[in-house]
Amino acid sequence: MLRKIGILTSGGDSPGMNAAIRAVTRTALANGIEVVGIHDGYKGLVEGLYEPFNRHSVSETIAKGGTILGSARLPEFKEEAVQLKGVEKLKENQIDAVVVIGGDGTYRGADALTKLGVNCIALPGTIDNDIEGTDYTIGFDTALNTIVDCVDKLRDTSNSHHRCSVVEVMGNRCGDLAIYSGISCGAEILITPETGYDEEAVLEKLRYLENQGKNHAIVIVSEKVCDVKSLADKISRVTGFAGRATILGHIQRGGSPTPSDRVLASRMGAKAVELLVEGIGGHCVGIRNNEIVSMPIEECVGMPRSSRRRFYRLFDRLV
Ligand code: ATP
Repeated sequence: MLRKIGILTSGGDSPGMNAAIRAVTRTALANGIEVVGIHDGYKGLVEGLYEPFNRHSVSETIAKGGTILGSARLPEFKEEAVQLKGVEKLKENQIDAVVVIGGDGTYRGADALTKLGVNCIALPGTIDNDIEGTDYTIGFDTALNTIVDCVDKLRDTSNSHHRCSVVEVMGNRCGDLAIYSGISCGAEILITPETGYDEEAVLEKLRYLENQGKNHAIVIVSEKVCDVKSLADKISRVTGFAGRATILGHIQRGGSPTPSDRVLASRMGAKAVELLVEGIGGHCVGIRNNEIVSMPIEECVGMPRSSRRRFYRLFDRLV
């Protein structure tokens, strides 16, 4: 019998986490299940940073960025002894099940807890869209909107100055933010983990574009693939463009979630509670072809994300 569930956010925050917390809370309460907000991720779970939630605890939160529960990293949670302490704390507080929102590491924590007897459901909360088992993660759409807004502005100014803007976006070794923003902004060149980095090919392409009469260019680069400042300097030295590097950084993580992220988070949050009511644990929730689905966490953690090859083909056709 499911009487009380906990909810926590863990890893990096992402816009839409609050909408998911709200959906879990309201759906659980509507099913007669008590809800406890667990502050600061697995650290709070182990230390007992628990707050009983009622429906007003999540009022006025759907439009807020970040996470009202806070997030913290607790690397020691990989150790079974620490996980067992968490299980004890949950039992002391009569918490039967937990919904966690986060990335790959957060998923692993949820899987471990389920194996120790506490049913957990994991929701994909990260702007990077780097989790297998779902077409989109909560926060991706908002971050994409932020990037597109910034790059559109950079394009206005680079247009007037024969400039090549080299823009670094986040992604944590996943090129989705780059490829989606590249298509959306009409970028000329993409550098992602999927494309790899060939400096000479990039410079060659820019010279070709110059010869075609282009007076500005946008290069979108996924973080951790190349040094955008060195690339921009090289562009200034060996092409006719003035290279300028912009690292968008944490601005991509902030802001009010888009309607798409709010709806996605709400659907996923409701599904998490449905699964727990059915007695299912150790699953993660995803969206596939606009259907909310779930599958065992083990099938998703540490897996390479399915390829976006058709998006890259589209990008190449549009330049
Ligand atoms: P992001 O994608 O934003 O980095 P994440 O969930 O992958 O999010 P991590 O820092 O990797 O972020 O993991 C968050 C927390 O999950 C860790 O601080 C730790 O408490 C827990 N965790 C990570 N890996 C494991 C693991 N193998 N087993 C159990 N718990 C884990």
